[in-house]
Amino acid sequence: MADPLSIINPANEALIKELLVDDRAAVAEKYARARAALPGWAALPLADRISPILRFRDLLIERVDALAALLTSETGKPITQARNEILAVLGRIDFFVQNAAQVLTPERVYSEPAHALPGSGTLEEVISHDPLGVIANISAWNYPYFVGGNVFIPALLLGNAVLYKPSELATLTGGAIASLLYESGIPEDIFIPIIGSGLTGAALLEQPIDGVFFTGSYATGQKIAVAAASKLIRTQLELGGKDPAYVCPDVNVAIAAAGLADGAFYNNGQSCCAVERIYVHADVYDEFLEAFLAAVEGFKLGDPTDPATYLGPVSRKPQLSVLADQVADALAKGATLRCGGATLDRPGWYFAPTVLTEVNHTMTVMQEETFGPVIGIQRVTSDESAVALMQNTPYGLTAAVYSTDRDRAVGILRQLKTGSAYWNCCDRVSPRLPWSGRGHSGLGATLSLAGLYAFLQPRAWHLRAG
Ligand code: NAD
Repeated sequence: MADPLSIINPANEALIKELLVDDRAAVAEKYARARAALPGWAALPLADRISPILRFRDLLIERVDALAALLTSETGKPITQARNEILAVLGRIDFFVQNAAQVLTPERVYSEPAHALPGSGTLEEVISHDPLGVIANISAWNYPYFVGGNVFIPALLLGNAVLYKPSELATLTGGAIASLLYESGIPEDIFIPIIGSGLTGAALLEQPIDGVFFTGSYATGQKIAVAAASKLIRTQLELGGKDPAYVCPDVNVAIAAAGLADGAFYNNGQSCCAVERIYVHADVYDEFLEAFLAAVEGFKLGDPTDPATYLGPVSRKPQLSVLADQVADALAKGATLRCGGATLDRPGWYFAPTVLTEVNHTMTVMQEETFGPVIGIQRVTSDESAVALMQNTPYGLTAAVYSTDRDRAVGILRQLKTGSAYWNCCDRVSPRLPWSGRGHSGLGATLSLAGLYAFLQPRAWHLRAG
């Protein structure tokens, strides 16, 4: 039998719970239950799938305090940010519910009148969409409600069954989501949590699933793609980033400094679209740096259950050495430490918010995903050099430009291969816009209409009256 999964509180390293892990036989049994239940669920009128999702929405509001406390306990996410994450799912549910009928309604795209010749009656061309079937949703821990909800909510609405593997670092939250869905009326065989770590995720991919929707690191994403390739199934990957921001000389410095400090440090920098590299034009560098450091100093660090806390512990203990290594590498190569730089001498996995300047692209902090409260700020002397540096990454999730000139910002952003482009904002996701990455940041899109069609397969109807 596999070792139990230990759920540890990152703020004090206390053991919260030990959970039994699903072995291959348990995963196969869960798959079989979902497969058997799927036809009945897929055949329901859309309204009968919408009502449990709307009830789920109500329960998120009703239970937000308890759900946020659970999320905070197992991930260390500050309670205010945990509440914000849960409540922000409501807008996504609204978008999916409002648009589900549109994507499920067959569309006549062409018609031709009957010809005089025998056997050539009226011709119609119609597109309809069917659910994919039983899908695997393998999720990350940093925003379990967001990244899970972007998949399981539209998937369920559109008639799919979901085998949901929460991250091993957010398993209790995964269980809470399942309980809430069942209480809302989603059948227990249509949304099934799969408990375990990467090995369990790999066992899930051995089942004859119809699609895999993954959120996580590039390294795991590659493994998922390889496993899915032999099945020829729909494969969607939302992966990491090394998201750059450029501060132009014509900028409003106060807006840029406040926005980028939040973009770099929100959720302790553990966001796929966290700002991970900042390039600042020399004309505004000193002023920007002063305002940025003041903003970072203003962040309250400490107990994540305190509503005033902005920075809690990091969620994964091994990340502490990744952060320390990036800082050491940068300092060895000539960077200047402006604040932070080390773990805190207190229980829990705390790393002080860290700002490095005089950085360059020989340093890992400007090349590899940091995923923590460490940011490098590099001085540049032209838009061209900023663009060249921003392009210098295999990732392509988001990029931001701060400037008072929209044409200048849009012109720069057009030259970058990213799924999202931000002018005078960053670290922002909208249900109405596709969320996607290019290069090492992923394949496919969630949210927007694209994020509904992702859970459907099209069928072409050629209908000629006889
Ligand atoms: P991870 O890759 O370690 O794990 C993600 C999930 O994959 C977990 O559920 C894990 O158990 C599972 N897994 C691990 N190995 C597996 C295997 N061989 N087969 C099947 N499943 C396996 O990532 P993480 O640490 O949970 O998340 C952090 C990463 O996710 C960061 O790189 C971050 O940028 C990225 N992320 C991306 C987005 C996005 O929208 N692009 C959103 C959130 C997080």
